[in-house]
Amino acid sequence: MANLKLSHIYKVYDNGHKAVNDFSIDIADQEFIVFVGPSGCGKSTTLRMIAGLETITAGDLFIGDTLVNDMEPKDRDIAMVFQSYALYPHMTVYENMAFGLRNRKMPENEIRERVQKAAKMLDIEDYLQRKPKEMSGGQRQRVALGRALVRDPKVFLLDEPLSNLDAKLRAAMRTEITALHKSLKTTFIYVTHDQVEAMTMGTRIVVMKNGYVQQIDTPMNLYHEPYNKFVAGFIGTPQMNFFNVSLKREKETVTIIFQNGDTVQLPYERVSKIHSRYLNGDTQVVFGIRPEHLALKKGGQLQKDEAGVKFIVTNVERLGNETIIYGKLGDQLGDFTMKDEGDSIIVKTTDADDIRIGDVVFAEPNQNRVHFFDAETEVTLMNRIPPYNTVEALKKVGVMELLGSRVALPDAFDKALENADRFELSIPPQAIVPGDDFALEVVHIEQVNDQRLAYLRNGDSYLFALVDDTVREGGTYRFSLLNDKLEVSAYGEEKMKAIPDQEFLEGTFSKTDTKENKNRVLRFFYNIAGYSIEAEPEKGYKINSIDGDSCYKKTYRYAVDRNRIRFASNDEPGLDVVVRDILNYGNVCFAEVETASLEKGKTGGQKLLLRVDPDFSETRVRIAFDSADISVYSTTIDMKIC
Ligand code: ADP
Repeated sequence: MANLKLSHIYKVYDNGHKAVNDFSIDIADQEFIVFVGPSGCGKSTTLRMIAGLETITAGDLFIGDTLVNDMEPKDRDIAMVFQSYALYPHMTVYENMAFGLRNRKMPENEIRERVQKAAKMLDIEDYLQRKPKEMSGGQRQRVALGRALVRDPKVFLLDEPLSNLDAKLRAAMRTEITALHKSLKTTFIYVTHDQVEAMTMGTRIVVMKNGYVQQIDTPMNLYHEPYNKFVAGFIGTPQMNFFNVSLKREKETVTIIFQNGDTVQLPYERVSKIHSRYLNGDTQVVFGIRPEHLALKKGGQLQKDEAGVKFIVTNVERLGNETIIYGKLGDQLGDFTMKDEGDSIIVKTTDADDIRIGDVVFAEPNQNRVHFFDAETEVTLMNRIPPYNTVEALKKVGVMELLGSRVALPDAFDKALENADRFELSIPPQAIVPGDDFALEVVHIEQVNDQRLAYLRNGDSYLFALVDDTVREGGTYRFSLLNDKLEVSAYGEEKMKAIPDQEFLEGTFSKTDTKENKNRVLRFFYNIAGYSIEAEPEKGYKINSIDGDSCYKKTYRYAVDRNRIRFASNDEPGLDVVVRDILNYGNVCFAEVETASLEKGKTGGQKLLLRVDPDFSETRVRIAFDSADISVYSTTIDMKIC
């Protein structure tokens, strides 16, 4: 039994191919985690790193509380089951299952007990004296499972174990493996390219593409709330329909406008989380709807209160329990082409006895099951917690007007806006906090996992904020904004970014090699514009093991949590910086400083922001931070090293 933690795991193969990028997950004891994605997306590489069969380029892997990056596979207390079974052909089933235990010098009577027990669970007791070639594929796969089972491992790793089996056997084995997981009460990690296996077996699923994690979620959340178009299309058969459309809001109605001019209307409240800039009737978005969430309206005409998209039926597949109808938008078949031009549609229904090829029908989307994605990034426009709100504001002398209130105009905004007198603020929900500035009505509260999302009335749309349980639906509460977390733009031009929590500084890496009491002592240092900070030895060794001795010639990006940067005390070493500007945000103040460029090395002249008191008036200061607060990033590839 064990929990696992993968923290910022990367794999860069010797040929420079980056197979896994920044993979992080906490896996609880007894979870059944499935890695799924198309071939080549990095699933097996990740699994093999967990097994210890592949080195980890960067990141930390914990099994239980133990960091196992450098631990031998045999010491990790995990068992792996492969697609190829990897059975020894000259040994009997019994010998195959006993082999690993004999290698560990386990007493023969205990081995017998374990093999018998596993064989019973897997229903292969009668085959123990057979050789693998005398067994079917399904039976061989059970032996492979049995060989893992007898080891009683903390974690089971399974790499496409069913892909050599035929469809019927695969379905049966899926059920058996799920039952086995339940009875063993161990952690399973299972790799497959088959979304049906993933959906039916996993307690949580990691969807991967091109080495990047796309979404980690429960099967139902992946199905209902896909984070992007890739996940939406990957999960579910037949695949989700996608259409290029635009959206236009008029009061309480949003119209989906298809490229052929057809329209379907939705109540605004169904899509109120979509940012208003996508609702102007011009911006292209992708509309996604699953075939099972389209209802057929027959007869070529819609009733007054019905909404539907018109299509002509091109094929009908009757499967008995359900019917899959393929069609083309519009009422003309046109010339036949295999090319998918974004106007094909699939409907899955149980009621289509009288549908024929060539019929012109309507499909009505289930309003609760619509999905919309950004046309470029392909990320959902209906995040459960919208990433930001946009609010219009007016600039007056010393004040700004927004959300029905007048509040002090932060000096930093005033400077950045120059002559603009109207501007837009992008406000993340987390930047709306209890305060005195704005009175807003809480129209609705939605529980999103362990957070409470409040819909705050703002004119004819909503402002989304995260609130605690003292805030109730129907009440009016006062809020303020964390100004430094906002983005400011005017007339479509970005004027000011939100201030991130981390500051990045470039620097070099060095070591000293000395003798102390006749012992050789290696020390490692991060060097930023003349400031040397001794690195923790394990981090130093890690950088060295990743980049080899070229690490002493390279430049690294050092990330420091801004709240951990302090002023150096009197004779403490530190980073000398020159103050260039003061940015006053009202709620907080920052000094914009520059690393002193007179210092030796290339790393002078870098800008950073320090949190300071409003009465700060120095022109040069020395700052310091602790090595424990530094994370190291590569400058050559996008990778966190430690
Ligand atoms: P999956 O299991 O999702 O099919 P893999 O983890 O096997 O994908 O591979 C991920 C990527 O890494 C692929 O592009 C593959 O070609 C590449 N790759 C795998 N093994 C090696 C290797 N030993 N050297 C270089 N590239 C590799």
